[in-house]
Amino acid sequence: MGVPKRKKSKSKKRMRIHSHKKAILASRPCPKCGAPQLSHRVCPKCGTYRGRQVLIISADE
Ligand SMILES: [Zn+2]
Repeated sequence: MGVPKRKKSKSKKRMRIHSHKKAILASRPCPKCGAPQLSHRVCPKCGTYRGRQVLIISADE
């Protein structure tokens, strides 16, 4: 199996970690309620996905 020739520098390690973090934070406003939601995920605020109600969210908040 291939073994890395050199230790990854702190900078390179951080770059890799933060690239993942960026992907998690990538969000768009929900078309229904405007809250930030992850793309290709059901909106956690109103429970809709592509204009369809998929989750029943209790209104008493
Ligand atoms: Zn929503």
